[in-house]
Amino acid sequence: MDSKPDPLHIMFFPHLAHGHMIPTIDLARLFARQGIKATILTTQLNTNLFSKIIERERELGFEIDFLVIKFPSMEAGLPEGIEIISSITSQEMGFKFFKAVSLLQQPLQQILQDCRPSCLVADGMFPWATQVASKVGIPRLVFYGTGYFASSVFDSFRRYEPLKHVTSDDQPFEVPGIPDKITMTRRQQPVELRESGANPEITVLLHKLIEAEIASSGVIINSFQELEPAYVEHYRKTLGRKSWHLGPLSLCNKNMEDKSQRGNANDASIDRVECLRWLDSKKQSSVLYICFGSVSWISAAQLTEIAEGIEASGVDFLWVVRKTNKDEDKEEWLPKGFEERMKGKGLIIRGWAPQVLILDHEAIGGFMTHCGWNSTLESITAGVPMVTWPLSNEQFINEKLVTDILRVGVGVGAQEWCRWMESRKLLVTRENISKAIAEVMVGEEADNIRNRARALKEMANRAVEEGGSSHSDLMALLDGLRLNNI
Ligand code: UDP
Repeated sequence: MDSKPDPLHIMFFPHLAHGHMIPTIDLARLFARQGIKATILTTQLNTNLFSKIIERERELGFEIDFLVIKFPSMEAGLPEGIEIISSITSQEMGFKFFKAVSLLQQPLQQILQDCRPSCLVADGMFPWATQVASKVGIPRLVFYGTGYFASSVFDSFRRYEPLKHVTSDDQPFEVPGIPDKITMTRRQQPVELRESGANPEITVLLHKLIEAEIASSGVIINSFQELEPAYVEHYRKTLGRKSWHLGPLSLCNKNMEDKSQRGNANDASIDRVECLRWLDSKKQSSVLYICFGSVSWISAAQLTEIAEGIEASGVDFLWVVRKTNKDEDKEEWLPKGFEERMKGKGLIIRGWAPQVLILDHEAIGGFMTHCGWNSTLESITAGVPMVTWPLSNEQFINEKLVTDILRVGVGVGAQEWCRWMESRKLLVTRENISKAIAEVMVGEEADNIRNRARALKEMANRAVEEGGSSHSDLMALLDGLRLNNI
């Protein structure tokens, strides 16, 4: 670090969801490690989730801290204690939660006026942040929880409206105007794209997101050049956005504590030592890790199919199960005698798992994932092939990057995009599940997939080293901020 303090002070304002906060905290740490003052703006309950990691950074001498913003639960009609998306239990509560989030504009402006940071890095889901920052006279950078490929595909949907030309939900169509030939179906797209007018509020929000992004000073992306080079170029040239790729951000977690407390300082549902001991007893690349992110809801019927599919595949597994919904707490979905039969072969974690710690263990040979961008990138960073099972958001697009472009994963054949909390009509069958697992875990083609995944792991690690593509983008961004010319 220079002896003269860096004049930059960056304020980070993540959306109140694990999938957004986790990478934003990593991003703030990345900046602080460059000698920059980093302030993370979030609500009281959310600071608790990350307090230990931030304390450790401060002990190392980095200038990083939280600033608490009051969550307007009462004003939005929400009960106290609901400050993160994963604690929402009904659609009605979801609407109130988003109302509360939109009420953060005014307090944000006050905070910026009082603190006068040099720049605001606010979540892509807060379109109003661009205007708030501009009122205070500071640049606003957008941080999205997704990569270049997904942004390019969504841009293609807006530009060319390919969904208008398909006649059925299952008719494959080619995504126009992007560097690769990618086919998808209408059923795999968000309802708002499938049926015009399905949800006018969301359509308006999507427009606002784009406008705010265009009016911002640029976009920070959790990705690296070597992962999706054609799409870095496409995004910059065709979409015309300024962007800096600084990832994989999860790579700033080097020690055991950081890896195991990431996203849930106090509440990992399995003891780290027990988890590692279990993995240590397994052969290299033999265990399938199964986790569908921080918010996905899987029906009881689908969980039963997963259990049957894993058992039929014969592979060892580590399976993270969240509560399905209020009525399904009793776990009646587990096939009779499953846990006894799987003793020694499988471990079920009920709740929060130390995902990065698990993925980095050499016993892990595959990751069955919902293709959330963080999970996808964490798998790539660990060199672990994927069994892809997208559910919602931009996950069906991320799947295409994994299976068709990078060829480091095999799909279970998921076809149906569903809003979070809505029930699906289509089940993925146990046969499809065990087939996809086998293709990723055993045989010659599995070895090819693994080799490609390992090559990407090397590239990911090089990208964040000094002189690497992400490190260079970080330096360019910091120079721009210091010279006031981003
Ligand atoms: N995660 C974790 N343990 C869990 C579930 C999720 O550590 O039991 C982390 C995971 O490592 C990732 C994030 O939560 O960083 C989930 O983000 P992602 O984009 O994959 O999915 P989302 O939860 O946003 O759908």
